[in-house]
Amino acid sequence: MIKLPKPEVLISESRIRRRVAALGRKISSDYAGKDLTVIFISSGAVVFAADLIRNIKLPMHIDCIRASSYASGMKSSGRVKLTSGFKVDIRGRHVLLVDDILDSGRTLGRIIRFLKKYRPADIRTCVLLDKAARREIPLETDYAGFAIPDVFVYGYGLDYREYCRNLPYVAYLKD
Ligand code: 5GP
Ligand code: MG
Repeated sequence: MIKLPKPEVLISESRIRRRVAALGRKISSDYAGKDLTVIFISSGAVVFAADLIRNIKLPMHIDCIRASSYASGMKSSGRVKLTSGFKVDIRGRHVLLVDDILDSGRTLGRIIRFLKKYRPADIRTCVLLDKAARREIPLETDYAGFAIPDVFVYGYGLDYREYCRNLPYVAYLKD
């Protein structure tokens, strides 16, 4: 069995719940009357997306794309690998792209370029965590849950060596 660190809480379950509810209200009002498709990036965004969509009180389609940039462990490989088995037609629809964390910006940048080929009406992004200090690509997110410092975080969908995605809060690694 792997030895996991003792989690240090960065953002508690109740803070996440309140913030996700507020994001849901904002998104619900911004997209009222529009054809919305929520596309989440797997695996990291699965927990956030599940909570977020239940706070968006609008008709919507959902789909997902698999992306991996952290090839192994905690070092970014610099390359982004995409796997999608798109079922949903996004042509002319308003796409909200949901991810766990915006770090260098490579993943979202790459996915936005990929999705544009399918001719959506527009694409906006929503991330739970924004690690602005690490940005390499000029990309601003339209909706962000929390701005965080440059620390390695895990839990609430984010992994620690593929574990801990099921923690109900966001933890960070103390060095
Ligand atoms: P980017 O392409 O913006 O550099 O990185 C985005 C992806 O890297 C995220 O979707 C996430 O999977 C991973 N990532 C970036 N920072 C962290 C972190 O602090 N913890 C974990 N677990 N994953 C991270
Ligand atoms: Mg991810």
